[in-house]
Amino acid sequence: MFFVIFSILIYFLPALIGRHKADAGAIFIVNLLFGWTVIGWFIALIWACAAERYVHVPVYAVPVSSGRFCSQCGTLSPYGAHFCAACGRAV
Ligand SMILES: [Zn+2]
Repeated sequence: MFFVIFSILIYFLPALIGRHKADAGAIFIVNLLFGWTVIGWFIALIWACAAERYVHVPVYAVPVSSGRFCSQCGTLSPYGAHFCAACGRAV
């Protein structure tokens, strides 16, 4: 019985590793349908271990003289302000 459970866990190891990825459903399908061919299992495993795609995060340049960002909420407070206008924390 232990061997059966252990074998199922090994078979679905790629799906378990990639369960939090964006392609988790596709990894599971490849693992389920093509895992019995050893090549399909390795493809699913490599896919599950591969890094996530690069997500572009926009970066905006803000002049330093225009103000300061609150370390609590990230709101830009005007230059010379001592407290954040959004959360009230000292900046
Ligand atoms: Zn704030």
